[in-house]
Amino acid sequence: MAKGKINVSVDNIFPLIKKFLYSDHEIFLRELISNATDATSKLKHLTSIGEAKVEYGNPIIEVKADKEGKKLHIIDQGLGMTEEEVKKYINEVAFSGAEEFLNKYEDSAKDSGIIGHFGLGFYSAFMVAEKVELITKSYKDEPGVHWSCDGSPNFTLKKSKKENRGTEIILHIAEDSLEFLEDNRISELLSKYNKFMPIPIKFGTKTETLPKPEDAKEEDAAPTVEVDNFINNPNPAWTKQPADLKDEDYKSFYREMYPMQFEEPLFHIHLNVDYPFNLTGILYFPKLSNDLSAQKDRIQLYQNQVFVTDNVEGIVPEFLTMLRGVIDSPDIPLNVSRSYLQADGAVKKISSYISRKVADKLSSLFKNNREDLEAKWNDIKIVIEYGMLSEDKFFEKADKFALYPTVDGAFYTFDELQEKIKANQTDKDDKLVVLYASDKEAQHSYIETAKAKGYEVLLLDSPIIGHLMQKLETSKEKISFARVDADHIDKLIQKEDTQISKLSDEEKETLKVDLEKVFGEKSSYTVQLEAMESDALPFTITEPEFMRRMKEMQQTGGGGGMFGMGNMPEMYNIVVNTNHELVGEILNTKTAKKKERLINQSLDLAKLSKGLLKGAAMTEFIKRSYEMVK
Ligand code: ADP
Ligand code: MG
Repeated sequence: MAKGKINVSVDNIFPLIKKFLYSDHEIFLRELISNATDATSKLKHLTSIGEAKVEYGNPIIEVKADKEGKKLHIIDQGLGMTEEEVKKYINEVAFSGAEEFLNKYEDSAKDSGIIGHFGLGFYSAFMVAEKVELITKSYKDEPGVHWSCDGSPNFTLKKSKKENRGTEIILHIAEDSLEFLEDNRISELLSKYNKFMPIPIKFGTKTETLPKPEDAKEEDAAPTVEVDNFINNPNPAWTKQPADLKDEDYKSFYREMYPMQFEEPLFHIHLNVDYPFNLTGILYFPKLSNDLSAQKDRIQLYQNQVFVTDNVEGIVPEFLTMLRGVIDSPDIPLNVSRSYLQADGAVKKISSYISRKVADKLSSLFKNNREDLEAKWNDIKIVIEYGMLSEDKFFEKADKFALYPTVDGAFYTFDELQEKIKANQTDKDDKLVVLYASDKEAQHSYIETAKAKGYEVLLLDSPIIGHLMQKLETSKEKISFARVDADHIDKLIQKEDTQISKLSDEEKETLKVDLEKVFGEKSSYTVQLEAMESDALPFTITEPEFMRRMKEMQQTGGGGGMFGMGNMPEMYNIVVNTNHELVGEILNTKTAKKKERLINQSLDLAKLSKGLLKGAAMTEFIKRSYEMVK
């Protein structure tokens, strides 16, 4: 048997790094600024524990573009490196000085916000540069060092006259990456990745307008000055303690994150844990529309204030990806694939922590400020309904605060609703029937009829409510939902109705035959005779709840019309009020022609009221109606 060590040749590794290290070349700047930030944070830590006996001062990081010389400079005032350190940290690929620092200062440095991890960030510079120089001077009393490498594994190392502490990285930008010398491109990258990093980052200058002196003339222009342009807010709201922030601070941070968003967020949730994982952040509930797909990718993920991604899939529960805000956690393994991420234990805990915090916030809002929750309900319900559908734990909590609005603007919890309707909204099997409308305008006459009977009618209009109703029907006992134009309502009416029919059984039979004859054999209308109050509508069309829901799901792609389900047959009931005058008149009309006309006209009116009268039938109806009024 032979044993040995696989020999990795550096000459081959370099082009690999350049090509494959990161899929996005633009992240080189994030990596170099992260290193500059780490160098500064380390110095801060060392001065705070007395190990570095130098003045920490107010260090900044500067980015300078030299378009003519095709060079990009990243300059920091951090701890710098000695020659020995350059050899160790820079010349050894995949040796992380950040990791080493954290291990060495274990406890005291754990909150220092050190970013580096894998010891590969520095080399990302070669994705855009054909040559990289590093000029550095340590805080220790040692000479400066000048390291330079042209992308081959060969480097040069010499002494440098650099006087002030810190490091300057000079990238000689390659021909295919000249975009990274453009002010706009650099600004874009800085504001994408570095907007909330903890050390001030300077890029160029900007012009500021000063107030006019008092003796200035009207036509005098206001004086201006050139000032350093700092691109970041080193102390973003999420890094602070909730107790130190006012409502207005949260709002202004929201505006900072989403400058193009003019609407204020409805409320926020401050996340803050350090055990069993580290996570901080602020989530905002914006006003949500009913369009689910349009509102994703608004939560940004950071690690120690460095922007990583706005794809939080797998980390934030799916139903909460409609929210906005930031989460910042050093504990999310981002170098691994997304599918692995979803199986990762820590990530799972993070996800369920976030959904628990959201449920807690809503629940406390419900308890302490129900009016406010009611006012905001229609703008946020889609998230909550989605959450109730997709997560059982969230369902359990939300079931206590989820609100069901009525068509008249009252809001009930499910328990309250049950209490409210149990006296008169049960069917033959003693099931509670929750009546709802999905469109106040289109179902107006049905709503009115139901209300006249003393029924509560909810207004449930979100696109996923059908699924939630199904879930409630299976998870609660003896509950069913029925839209106001569904046939359940007929059953309720039957049970409740104490009206005596004006028609004899014989007359009823004749009426039924008459109607069915006109509707024709292949008709999708089933005649149902009922004795109602004489001023209730004479003809009403209802549709089995089940059939309608199936059709709706087919339309939204649920069962996929393409996959053999075929078209659902049309099935309607036509409910005839035997106590209505018109119905009596139809029965007593002698001429068959006239009778047929009355029945057809009545059927068309009933169809019209349910929105079923369309096309040629509508045109025909209108013509006929004009004839009649003439
Ligand atoms: P990581 O940041 O993951 O440790 P990098 O490849 O980005 O790995 O950097 C390697 C090491 O080089 C760092 O850990 C640090 O010790 C050193 N280094 C890089 N840039 C600087 C800098 N601007 N100032 C001081 N040290 C630096
Ligand atoms: Mg690094």
